[in-house]
Amino acid sequence: MAPNEFAALTDRVQGPVFLPGEADYGAERSGFLAFDQRRPQVVVGAVDAADVRAAVEFAAERDLPVAVLSTGHGIASEVEGGLLITTGRMSEVRIDAERRTAWFAAGVRWGQVVEAAAESGLAPLSGSAPHVGAVSYTLGGGLGHLGRRYGYAADHVRAIEIVTADGRFRRVTAESDAELFWALRGAGGNFGVVTGMEVDLMPVASLYGGGLYFDSHLIGDVLRTWQQWTRDLPEEMTSSVALVPFPDVPALPEPLRGRHVVHVRIAYAGDPAEGERLTEPLRAVGPRLIDSVREMPYREVGSINNDPVQPMGYVTDNAMLRDFDDAAIKTLLGLVGPDAPQRCVVEVRHLGGALSRPVDNCVGHRDAPYVFGVNSKVDEATVDAARELQSRVMREMAPWSTGGRNLNFLAGGSANPEGVRAAYDPADYERLGALKKARDPKNLFRLNHNIPPAR
Ligand SMILES: Cc1cc2nc3c(=O)[nH]c(=O)nc-3n(C[C@H](O)[C@H](O)[C@H](O)COP(=O)(O)OP(=O)(O)OC[C@H]3O[C@@H](n4cnc5c(N)ncnc54)[C@H](O)[C@@H]3O)c2cc1C
Repeated sequence: MAPNEFAALTDRVQGPVFLPGEADYGAERSGFLAFDQRRPQVVVGAVDAADVRAAVEFAAERDLPVAVLSTGHGIASEVEGGLLITTGRMSEVRIDAERRTAWFAAGVRWGQVVEAAAESGLAPLSGSAPHVGAVSYTLGGGLGHLGRRYGYAADHVRAIEIVTADGRFRRVTAESDAELFWALRGAGGNFGVVTGMEVDLMPVASLYGGGLYFDSHLIGDVLRTWQQWTRDLPEEMTSSVALVPFPDVPALPEPLRGRHVVHVRIAYAGDPAEGERLTEPLRAVGPRLIDSVREMPYREVGSINNDPVQPMGYVTDNAMLRDFDDAAIKTLLGLVGPDAPQRCVVEVRHLGGALSRPVDNCVGHRDAPYVFGVNSKVDEATVDAARELQSRVMREMAPWSTGGRNLNFLAGGSANPEGVRAAYDPADYERLGALKKARDPKNLFRLNHNIPPAR
């Protein structure tokens, strides 16, 4: 398309429009994931739902695929050509304390919702990082620190406001369009651009939570104790464990610098004294380099995982596990433990509880007891080796995998069709393909974790 054709777009939207080569085109298409390939033909900085609608209409008229960028935490965002809608300017949050709901716009980060809900002693089903986008996280399922207690974020959505491939704005609920409502809660951005969402809030003002960091010589003992411990826990306890090779840099707390540690993340949504009692077997493994587990207001939930905030390049992969037993731990430590030649961050999250209960949406693999992830910080020079290591880890952990994947932690987007398919139960994937054929037959929304229209 000739650049002058985009002048018509500028007239149709209130927000700014950016073309390649113009000032701010680069900044507008960047986000947390610094190692990214977003090269859209045009970027629309939407300020409201009307802008989103005008941008989708403009793209649909010209058969331009539509991509969306909120915070850039996702790895589904490789965009070559097409029209990119950025949502960062859509930042409104409304809390209804009486109904225990939150409404948030497309560009809102979890931290904003957490803060606003905390004023009323309520909490959203947010994830480990407050700077992740609330909308996309929820569209992909959304696995957070209250997961075993209340389920996935997608299980507690009341309404989704969206511009669909026909350029229409809709407020989708279980009553207005049951099939689309089923699909939107778990299928990412496949069915349109979400402009806002209404979700339930939970009556959680505080947690007994934090991190237990142990030094490398205790890694095996901690992993074995944690996996035994997770076999008999109340649903109020959600936890995960991560192996983290920390660099020796002044920005880190002194006890962690240059150490390969095991970090147990605890979130107990119940009586703090009971949380403390339940945590005893983990503390009994040995001395902690840092022990930040305490009663905390929910607004400090981001301190549990302490995820990185600065933009970075990273690659990731994940697998649902049917078990995480001693043999799995031995295999993992041989590959990426403190004595292994190569390093990366691995994490195992404990599922089950409310996450395993059936809900009428398309979030997959509810029967898996664990999800396993592998993450590497990369740049151009290290990305190939990191990908090779991740493939090897996934291959060697395959005996414990169910074959399923978690959509939110999935890399590759439209370039990883088998990974996307594996995020769903097979019958759900077929149903999603059929709905995509009916609602987005030209696959306008394909620059994402794409589910192609059924043939
Ligand atoms: C540090 C970190 C911590 C994380 N922790 C968790 C966690 O605890 N639990 C969990 O479940 N996930 C977690 N994730 C994964 C995260 O939820 C997903 O990557 C999510 O897609 C990020 O959304 P975003 O808006 O922040 O990122 P973006 O990169 O801006 O969006 C990702 C994709 O979502 C789609 N999208 C975004 N906005 C819209 C919209 N309005 N309408 C339609 N489609 C849209 C687009 O396809 C886009 O490419 C984490 C990721 C990181 C990097």
